[in-house]
Order: sequence, then C-alpha cells, then structure tokens
Amino acid sequence: MVEPHAEFGLNPTRKACFACGDTTDEVVLAGNELNFIAPSAYPFPPSSEHFHLCSLCDAIIGGEEGIVITRMRILDDKSMMFTGLNLGVKREAVIKMFPEEKMFEEMDIIFFSEDEWKEWEEKGLLPNENEASTF
Ligand SMILES: [Zn+2]
Repeated sequence: MVEPHAEFGLNPTRKACFACGDTTDEVVLAGNELNFIAPSAYPFPPSSEHFHLCSLCDAIIGGEEGIVITRMRILDDKSMMFTGLNLGVKREAVIKMFPEEKMFEEMDIIFFSEDEWKEWEEKGLLPNENEASTF
C-alpha cells in the first residue's frame, strides 16, 4: 500500500537495477518511501520491496559466483550517479585484487567512485579478461 508523500504525492518513478542502474519500463509509485521527488528512474536498495536486479547482473551474481563492480559519479555528499561502467568479476579475482578488504568476500555489488576507480586502475588492480567482463 502506497503512503503518498506529503509534498510529492504518489511520487512515480521507474524501477532501475540496483547494481548497474539499467532502467526498466516498470513504474513504481514510491510515495513516501523516498523523501525527495522521485527521479525518472530509481535503483531501490535490497531493503525495499521494489529492489530489482537486471537479468545480466542477476546472472553474474547468482550464476557464476561473481561480483558486480559499478563505477559511480559523486554529485554531492548525498547523491551519486551511475556512469554506465560496470565489471562482472569472479569472486576469487576480487579477493585477489583486494586481499585486505575482507568485506568484499561477502558482498555481491561494490560501488566505486570515479577517483577510487582511477586509483585502482593506476595500481594495476584491473582484473584480466579471463576474470572480468565489462558491460
Ligand atoms: Zn544490472
């Protein structure tokens, strides 16, 4: 049941993939689930009933024991934007790339800012093509 937002009403938006930002045609009435005016598409988090993974991300995460690495643009201290640059990486490759980051062993999706991504590339941590695919 949608609780309308006091200011933005039913607050419609399209569902987007939480991992890569790919949009669907499915319209969601977000109501007060979002405390801001809904953008044209929104990637609802796993805690939301509107959480969505596209078939590609779902296949990477589910089928091959992989992780989706997503490059984000930081807009301000509250918001980020998908850049459309994503990697599907095998879990063992991610563990090799970030041996000190134990939490990545448990995660299915990792978001990097463009600066972190650049730093990661400069350190030569980019996985080889046997270990990763871009999409
Ligand atoms: Zn996706």
